Amino acid sequence: MDSTSPASTDDLLATIHKYWGYEQFRPLQREAMESVLEDRDSVVVMPTGGGKSLCYQVPALCKPGVAVIASPLISLMKDQVDALTACGIRAACINSTVTLAERRSIAADVRSGATRLLYLAPERLLSDRTLDFLSGVDVSFFAIDESHCISEWGHDFRPEYRMMRMLKDRFPGVGVHAYTATATERVRSDIAQQLGLIEPEMLVGSFDRPNLVYRVQRRKDRFAQIQEVVSRHANESGIVYCIRRADVESIAQQLNDNGIKALPYHAGLSDQERQKHQEDFIQERVDVVVATVAFGMGIDKSNVRYVVHAGMPKSLESYQQESGRAGRDGLEAECVMLYSSGDLVTWKRMLGDLPDSAQQAAFHSLEALDHFCIGTECRHQMLVSYFGQDLQEPECEACDVCLGTVDLVEDGMILGQKILSCIARTGERFGADHNAKVLCGSRDKRVLELEHDQLSTYGLLQDQSIRAVRTWIEQLVGQRMLAKTGEFNVLKLTESGRQLLRGEITPKLTKPDGEKEERPKRQRK
Ligand code: ADP
Ligand code: ZN
Repeated sequence: MDSTSPASTDDLLATIHKYWGYEQFRPLQREAMESVLEDRDSVVVMPTGGGKSLCYQVPALCKPGVAVIASPLISLMKDQVDALTACGIRAACINSTVTLAERRSIAADVRSGATRLLYLAPERLLSDRTLDFLSGVDVSFFAIDESHCISEWGHDFRPEYRMMRMLKDRFPGVGVHAYTATATERVRSDIAQQLGLIEPEMLVGSFDRPNLVYRVQRRKDRFAQIQEVVSRHANESGIVYCIRRADVESIAQQLNDNGIKALPYHAGLSDQERQKHQEDFIQERVDVVVATVAFGMGIDKSNVRYVVHAGMPKSLESYQQESGRAGRDGLEAECVMLYSSGDLVTWKRMLGDLPDSAQQAAFHSLEALDHFCIGTECRHQMLVSYFGQDLQEPECEACDVCLGTVDLVEDGMILGQKILSCIARTGERFGADHNAKVLCGSRDKRVLELEHDQLSTYGLLQDQSIRAVRTWIEQLVGQRMLAKTGEFNVLKLTESGRQLLRGEITPKLTKPDGEKEERPKRQRK
């Protein structure tokens, strides 16, 4: 391309074709790359697999100077540099494993203009030495990967990211571009604000992955449930995620005992073992990797046909990201979550150790995940609405709810009416817990004090567990027949709720799962 005139969209396409062999842009890539060429600031939000890396790699080749990329994941940086080098692109990465001699030679290449992309961990980028060095060279723009880490509202806050706003002060006029897969509206504007971006272009890709089929099942017989999925996908690649290392080991072992080639992957293995297991998976010497979340960051295998979560992830963002590793080639793939309320309790306990500011966001996201699991709305819709989007079609034909494979109670209308009448009788002044107790006929002190044991709806669902009733309430909220209001999540009937009471609509309520729990005391007077 002509080095005197600024690069154009055609140059971008020519560059993609020349180095990567791709014929066209993915959605939003053109806009994202153009904002780099125009020296604007931007926040680019694309789901995992959407093609964020190209958004900065391509313009880095079309603009004079060196593009500086900040990323928190050393392994990911190294993979990217290796991949770029393999395409014939001069890129380098400075991290703790780089020797002094290597660092000198990288610095010389950056100064001479040979290096087009320089990858750094955020804390290294922000060190005085690095900033001084960069002040003396021609920086084309800054790209900040995993930029949700800057926000306390994000699910992975890293304090060192906070210092990034220094870049705007030290390098006025140089574009700063933030990239992330996981940003709600709040995180998005927080990223822009924290970085001090100037009138940034906000580019938000569609979060829906229509080729993924989502299914959620109560975890009953964990291994049998995993095996069922794995055997439906014989000789295809899949990932099974677990929360604990011990589960990783035992499930991998059980799969092998059943003739399925599987390898474990977790932080307790040596670097060498991890590298080898990852390689065996990518080269398809094994079909299944059983892993903790440590696995998958930056691995680029496009034909993963299924992802099973044997344990729940810690947030809906994490779920989006982890399940998103399936079907990157755009062909149908399956995401199965084995849900257990025990996992929720585990996470709540673990998140309890976070500082207050981060805790609130973490709980919010965990609750969103809980609702994703127990809700009876389209799962594609539940996922995208968490990211502030709506589906075009009301039914996706690619989730267990829309496909009708969720076990629903036969008479959802009567059951829903009972629950709503109770909420009306208690005066629409209480939350789910209290109403569930009244419906189950609990002798709870507060129920008695308020004389709610005198109501006609008291004990109307006395054969059901409080947990089941709370799940149904949650499902009615999801279907907007009830609304949670105020600080205490007081339940109120909505217009659709009134339609249900009049028998005009039927809610989708799931069969109780029979999970063991304390039954409420039921000695009625
Ligand atoms: P993300 O970082 O958003 O998760 P990546 O940048 O790793 O996604 O891209 C995912 C995959 O899509 C990679 O294999 C990448 O080479 C491929 N890809 C990116 N852009 C295009 C494109 N325009 N055409 C075809 N494939 C693309
Ligand atoms: Zn659906």
